[in-house]
Formats: sequence, C-alpha cells, structure tokens
Amino acid sequence: MIQSRNSITDIWGEPHPYYGQWPVRVDQSLEAEPDHWVRSACVLCSNGCGLDIAVKDGRIVGVRGRAEDRVNHGRLGPKGLHGWMANNSKDRLTKPLIRKGGTLTEASWDEAMELIVARSKKIMAEQTGLGIGFYTSGQLFLEEYYTLGVIGKAGIGTPHMDGNTRLCTATAAAALKESFGSDGQPGSYTDLDTAETILLCGHNMASQQTVLWSRILDRLAGPHPPKLIVIDPRTTYTAEAATVHLAPRVGTNIPVMNGLLNGVIRSGNIDRDFIDRHTVGYDELVRVVSKWTPEKVEEASGVPAHKLKQAADLLAKTKTLVSTVLQGFYQSMQATAAAVQVNNLHLIRGLIGRDGCGIYQMNGQPTAQNTRECGADGDLPAFRNWSNPQHVEELAKIWNVDVDKVPHWAPPTHAMQIWRYAEQGSIKLLWISGTNPAVSLPELARIRKILDKEELLVIVQDAFMTETAQHADIVLPAAIWGEKTGCFTNVDRTVHLSHKAVDPPGEARSDLDIFLDYARRMDFRDKDGNPLIKWKDAEGAFEAWKECSKGRPCDYTGMSYAKLSGGSGIQWPCNDRYPDGAKHLYTDGIFNTAQSYCETYGHDLDTGAAATEQEYKAHDPKGKAFIKASDYMPPHELPDKAYPFMLTTGRLVYHFHTRTKTGRSKELNEAAPDAYLQISEEDAAKLGVAEGEMVEVESRRGKVTQPVKIGGIEPGLVFIPFHYGYWDDPGRSRAANELTITEWDPVSKQPHFKYSAVKIRKAGQRILDKLEQAVEKVAEAVNIKR
Ligand code: SF4
Repeated sequence: MIQSRNSITDIWGEPHPYYGQWPVRVDQSLEAEPDHWVRSACVLCSNGCGLDIAVKDGRIVGVRGRAEDRVNHGRLGPKGLHGWMANNSKDRLTKPLIRKGGTLTEASWDEAMELIVARSKKIMAEQTGLGIGFYTSGQLFLEEYYTLGVIGKAGIGTPHMDGNTRLCTATAAAALKESFGSDGQPGSYTDLDTAETILLCGHNMASQQTVLWSRILDRLAGPHPPKLIVIDPRTTYTAEAATVHLAPRVGTNIPVMNGLLNGVIRSGNIDRDFIDRHTVGYDELVRVVSKWTPEKVEEASGVPAHKLKQAADLLAKTKTLVSTVLQGFYQSMQATAAAVQVNNLHLIRGLIGRDGCGIYQMNGQPTAQNTRECGADGDLPAFRNWSNPQHVEELAKIWNVDVDKVPHWAPPTHAMQIWRYAEQGSIKLLWISGTNPAVSLPELARIRKILDKEELLVIVQDAFMTETAQHADIVLPAAIWGEKTGCFTNVDRTVHLSHKAVDPPGEARSDLDIFLDYARRMDFRDKDGNPLIKWKDAEGAFEAWKECSKGRPCDYTGMSYAKLSGGSGIQWPCNDRYPDGAKHLYTDGIFNTAQSYCETYGHDLDTGAAATEQEYKAHDPKGKAFIKASDYMPPHELPDKAYPFMLTTGRLVYHFHTRTKTGRSKELNEAAPDAYLQISEEDAAKLGVAEGEMVEVESRRGKVTQPVKIGGIEPGLVFIPFHYGYWDDPGRSRAANELTITEWDPVSKQPHFKYSAVKIRKAGQRILDKLEQAVEKVAEAVNIKR
C-alpha cells in the first residue's frame, strides 16, 4: 500500500499554517499503480472532497485528492482514503432476491421487477398511490433522486416520500427555511480562510468533516488564528481545540443560545441598520432572550456563567463569524428552534453574505442536499412550496401532468409518519433505497416488527445484505459510487460530477437504471400520452433537472456535464448571472422570503403549527429575513430513579452511519471495530466497572450490552456510537438505537436521538440479581411451609 500518511493514526495530516489562501496538500491511498484515473468526489460525508479514482484492470485500487478542487485542495481524510475498499468487498449483492417460503432466494431482474410492478398496480387500483411509500437516502446521486421524485409525485401521486435525511439534515433545511425563506447554505467554505471567530454548535467537526477541520487546524497554526467556540456536552477532539468550550446538559441548547444572544444584545454590538432594513422579529427576540442571564443559563444548562460571558463577548466583538450546526442541535430537544438562534446571531450582527461570514446548517450525508433539492424527500423539487398553488402548477407544467396528480393537499409525509402508516397498515409497499433503517431509526425493536409485517411488501435496494435487507421481501442489488455516473452537492453548494470508473459486480444496476426500468414497466404517461420519464441516462436526467431548477434558488442551468468535468466542483446558483457559480447567497441582504418565491410559509417553532398562505400574505416580509425567538422546554425524557443516566448517541471518525461501507474497509474497521459505552470516571467508580468491562444498558425501549470506555464525558451522561448493528456480529445486542426514543422535532420532524434515560449494570449482574431473588423466594417458601 502506497500512501502519503497513515491517516488512521494521523487523522488530519501534516499542518500547513496559513491565513487567506489555503495551501494545497494532495493525499492519496493506493494499493497498486493504476492504469488510469477517473474524476469523482468522496461520498463519505457532506464535505464533498474532490478526488480521482485509481483504476487497474477494471478494479478500483485507490484514490487521490484533487489539488484544484475548491473544497479540499487535495486533502482526504481517513474515510475518503479507505472507504473505496467497500466496492471490492466479496459480499456485494450481485443478483435480485425474492423471499420464497420465508427465505430470500435468487431471482431474475424480470421476475423481481414484475412482482414489484404487479403489486404497485394492485395497490394503486385499490387505494390509489397512498398505499405506496418510498424511504430513500442521502447516498444516491442527484439524477436518481430527481427521477424518483418525478415517479413518486407525478407517476404514482404519493405524498409518502422521504429520505433518511430526515434523521440527519431535516433540521438544517428547516432552520434555513424558517429564517431565510428557503433551503440553501448562505456561506462558502472559503469563509473559514479569514474568519475571526468560528462557532461550532453540536458539531464534532474534527471527527465528522475531517478535511474541513484540517482547514481550521491550519488556520489555528497560522497568523491571525481564529477564536473557536464549541458547544458540545462531550470533550470531543473539536472541543479540545476550543478557545471556549461550553458543555451544556443534553437538551439545553436553547438556554445556551438565548444566553449568548442576550449577551450580544446587552453589549450593544448589534447591527441596527441591518436589522431594520433586512429583518423582521427583532423586538420579540429581545423580549424572549432578555431573561436568559448567564446565571439563569448556568442553572438550566450547567454551563458556568463566566464561560457563557466569555463566549458572548467574543461573539459581540468579532468582525467576521462562521457558524456551523449539526446533530448535537438537530437530533435534540427544540432542534429547529435552537438552530434558528444561530441564524439569529448572524442576522442581529449583520454577519452574512460576505467574505468570512458563513452559516453552515451542516448536512451529514454526501448527497443529502440533493435529496432535499430534487423532491425525493418531504419537499417539492427545487425548493418549491407545496402550499403555493402557483409552484405546484409550475411543476405540473414541467412534467406535463394534471396539477391534481401532484400531491399538494397536505404537507408531504415525513419519514416518521411514513413508518407509522406502514405500522398501521395504510402503506402496503415500502421501497427502501440506499439506507439501513434497521440500525439507524429509533426504537429498533419496533422497526423490525414493521419490516416483518405480513401485509407490507418491503423492497430493499442496496449493495450489501444489510440488517434491513435481511427483513426484505425483495432485494435489488445496486451499483454504488465509482460504478455509475452522477452529481452530488455538498454543504457549501458545490456540485461535483462523479464519473463511472468500473462496472458494478454481477447483475447489480445503478439506482437510476432501476427507477427507469420501474417507470417503463409501470408505463407512467404524461398528459399527452408520452412517457412521463423522458430521459434514459444520467446526463438526460441532469438536463431535465436543470429545467426544473430554473429560476429557483438552486438554479443549475449554467452547469453541464462538460463544465463539471473540469478540475473543481461548481457552486449553485450557476446561471446567466453567475456563470461560474456564486460564493455567497444574500449578498444584497435580500432573502428568499417573498410570498411568491418562498419555500414555506413558516411554522411556530414551539408547536410546529404551520402558517397559512393568507396569514403569510398578510405580513409578507418581501425579502426580509425572519428573526424567530423560542423559549426553553425541557427534554421529553429525563433521568429518574429507575433510569438514572442520560444516554446520547453519535458518530466516530472512522465510520460512516451504519458501517455498511466503512465496516468493510480493513483499515477503518480495525481502527474502530466495536461499539462501546463511554462513561465518566465518577460514574464508573460508582458502578464499580473497569475499562473494557461489559455492562448492560437498558432504556424503556430496549437493552444493549457494551464494553465500557472511561473518561471524556460529564457525570450522569453516557455515550454510545450508533454505527454498529448486527451484520458482522449477530451475537450481541449492541445497536444504540435499540434504546432511543420515538419522538421528533415539531418543525423539522427530525427524531430525538440525543437523549434517552437509561440504567446501567454490570453484564451478568442481572443473572446474579435473579439468582438472589430466586434464593429469597425459596427461603420465603420454606419459611411459609415451616
Ligand atoms: S472529509 Fe468527508 S468528503 Fe472529505 S474525504 Fe473525509 S469523508 Fe470524504
């Protein structure tokens, strides 16, 4: 293996101190000299690093970061350098499978697709498209999501479409929509090159976006290093580098954010002119946050008052600010409300739409942005508003279907509700593509029960026999990254085109080919009797998407496959006005909130109640951003006598989501082979457990057994990484989501993975307890007889 560094032990690589222009450093990992290189980008997190795939004898043999790419300047992290090995894994799915007599049995594509088509037609005849649901991913390509979106919305006419993006980035989208009128990150990664202060909210960037973190490490080592404020209950790698680390109790992000806003307002360092000219809602914010003094914040969150004051002081004085937000906010109590407060901070200081001032309501998955853009989740394509009749008409026109065919009589169904409908029986066909809900959704015992329901046809489209595929009725073998062509958009709106480098194994097909085949067999037609889906390949789908995106915030009309095959990715909007893409949104202080243009009419952050078209029209902000306030509500489950610990879940640097790919890379797997329970020194001592000792962790919903890892966490709080399921270790209950709660944010509908009350005891202690109880019972019985 030739590689520039051991990225397992040296995660972020050699530093290149700088200010202003991030120096190039090309990382590579090769197991053999390639015949040729193929242009692509990494799909193992939302950073979207540009890379080339090394190919030898029709097989992927490595990757190399692309020096000229605007996102990573050649760098790659451990997942990017080693994740490609999953493509060559021996246990890839190569043939369709159909469950017969309880066993998944090899079948032909014709047999599998005809079965799906026959069942789809039967359900549609009996109960319309409402009987069919799609649960997709943040892993497919733009062209695949758009095709799926058109099939679902204009072919079948079902509102039941969502992605696993509901679990990771729904709050990012919701927060952007609530503040700025539509999805779309205002900033650009280049903001990090000059920012004076960086605020990381519930975002362990050092582990999750390792290349972006290298950019910050290089700034920290250079001239004019930025001040770093980290809000995270755990002492992560990111928190260790902070100027100020605020570690609130889980579920108390709102008190902390309100305290910071209050501190900034009281300092007087607000941009009154920007507030007056470009926002609405400031007075209400002042009213709500004014009671959140540092002392009151300390009482509610445990964050020391002096630390809060220090952070507020930095935020009040900084001339430039980059903020990032991720799962510590998104998967917790008051998710959208807390994420919106970060937007508020930028708005009241006027730190938006210019160099050094970025907000990243981060995405987790590589193509999450495209699920949201293309309408494969609970949104209409190109950030159109389902409750704006004109937007729905536009779509119907583009697709040449009756407007009534496009579901818009109620909000699109979010994933948690799709699973509820499948549980209750109104959804009879659930098509799952590129995701593994049997490990990633909360309360797994319930999810397995739903998947096993006799009357529900479960289709799983994946590259591997995942924990979910094991419960499927039909399994379709899918091609993955490197084996197909398509685009994906990262968190700073940079679009990359990933070219096909090798053939997929066996009979595996791209998700696009599977969806196109389904559309053809279903014979979906437009109003004129022509095929509804008019494209036959990825480039055709991209061209169709461009037309759909025209005039909308995510305008792709200035892009083409040829243009995207240059050295670097390109940011949207890319059109006549911005032929090379736009670095920042909202440079003129005009936001996407005008009634005729906005993606949503907004919600009450506390209840999720949606505003109507009439209500919105009555107070049309006409391009002003919303400042929305919210007061504190405690988490729905708190520790008590029976369940005295608070469990939080999250990710590790070496793995991506449910390890379907990264668990199949020798290097990554050996670096982090198993789940564990992280616990404080004090709590370990109280329980009498030593490092590595097995403990049982039990919530009201399930139980797991984990080895203990001691330190780096506050007393009362414990942590389990959620990556680990059962495909490579079926012997032990270990998936963190056996324990998590089925609750979600009222606005974004994102589940609350970050808090569950649990109890912990030594493994085997239960048997000892039971033995003791049995002995006591025998003794009692003997006494009675005497
Ligand atoms: S930071 Fe993300 S996109 Fe970049 S190499 Fe690592 S996993 Fe891939």
